[in-house]
Amino acid sequence: MDAPAADLRERPAPLSREPAPIYSDYLHERIETMPRAELEQHQEAQLKAMLAHAYERSGLVRQVWDAAGVTPKDIRSLDDFRAKAPFISKDAVRDFRDANNDPCGGLNCAGPGELKGVGSTSGTTGDPTPVPQGVRQPPSIGYARDLWHIGARPGDYVSNIMFTFRGGHRGRVMQEVGFTPILFTLSPLEMPRLCEASKRFRPTALTLMANPLLIALEQLFEKTGEDPTDVFKSYKGAIFGGEPLGARLKGLAKSWGLEIFETTSLGDIAGATECRVHDGHHAWEDIALVECLHPVTEEPVADGEIGEMVVTALTDRFMPLIRYKTDDLITADRSPCACGRTHMRFKPVGRKGDQIIIDGLSIMPRDVLEVVENHTETRAGLFQVIRPSREMDELRVRIGFDATRLEGAQEALASRLVEHLQAKIGVTVVVELTLNEELLKLGPPHKIPRVTKQ
Ligand SMILES: [Zn+2]
Repeated sequence: MDAPAADLRERPAPLSREPAPIYSDYLHERIETMPRAELEQHQEAQLKAMLAHAYERSGLVRQVWDAAGVTPKDIRSLDDFRAKAPFISKDAVRDFRDANNDPCGGLNCAGPGELKGVGSTSGTTGDPTPVPQGVRQPPSIGYARDLWHIGARPGDYVSNIMFTFRGGHRGRVMQEVGFTPILFTLSPLEMPRLCEASKRFRPTALTLMANPLLIALEQLFEKTGEDPTDVFKSYKGAIFGGEPLGARLKGLAKSWGLEIFETTSLGDIAGATECRVHDGHHAWEDIALVECLHPVTEEPVADGEIGEMVVTALTDRFMPLIRYKTDDLITADRSPCACGRTHMRFKPVGRKGDQIIIDGLSIMPRDVLEVVENHTETRAGLFQVIRPSREMDELRVRIGFDATRLEGAQEALASRLVEHLQAKIGVTVVVELTLNEELLKLGPPHKIPRVTKQ
């Protein structure tokens, strides 16, 4: 289905109520495969319209831009924007919220009657950010494209395990495309029902799989002796999100015949999901302008180099984040992907606030995961890095274990973990063991905070 270029310029990329031809590899072929120069032209046009709108309606954007002495009229090109536009930090949103008693932190731009709900980010790092919801949200459009790419087509059932904190509108967009969502709550307790419905309806795709659900499925199959490859045989793929997926659980899902497509946040604007090439997350650049900037100098870094992801909404008229510093460190790749799409891919490195420096060595929580999940007792991969400050003398990790799998003393398990972590990471490691159930209580519930102060 080709979207006329004029539509893209004036308003959000339209999600046609007419399904794309089922033989197309893309839900929005013209948009998804647009040459980069053309994509940037559209970004520029949409950006200018969005800046005028946000400056007029968002109290926070107006405050930040007025303080910087810049107005939307000063921005005539993407280059102008990169040179002049001030940044908005997560702290600025929270400060505005507290100073003005505004639950949306000065971000809500909806007119009377336009707001259809309020979600929030998951609050993994402590303080959730509100997400005002309009009728049609960019995250939903992105996920519809992703599900299409995975292989869902009009008339197909799609298992929709809902996480409600961003709002529950994804089901509606699925229906518009022609998928029939089967709804589940994101809870390990729902996994028997997921298996049952999967056998009955034979859905072609699933969203959103998460670590605690994979762990629950593994236990369920071990208990019941049911054949996972039969349960999942109709699935062409499952979108997985919440946090990085370790090699063990990914391999486990593969052994069930379930191809996992990891998704991650595009800085609170939308999701960004892997394609079948599995070489980074596609950011939909018609809905977000993505910059990758040096964390200290704020200058653009080259593709492949680590920088902070800074995002600007191009279509979300309800909560337009403008040059929003996400704290997420990524590497970007703007070359066309082998899947045929031209939109950039990025690989998450970790959160700026999660980085630990020991003896000049940078350590991220994902460095710990691989070791933890490769021990039987700790195979769920549940752990927290204890990080009272950015620079530390030793790496302290709290690791969850399964008491039913513990053979021998806890101390022996702890020393094994210490030994393997030290060998992999190359710094002194201190391990504190706790029960899996205790760590899972900290979840929102699809993941637990990977870093804690104590
Ligand atoms: Zn791709």
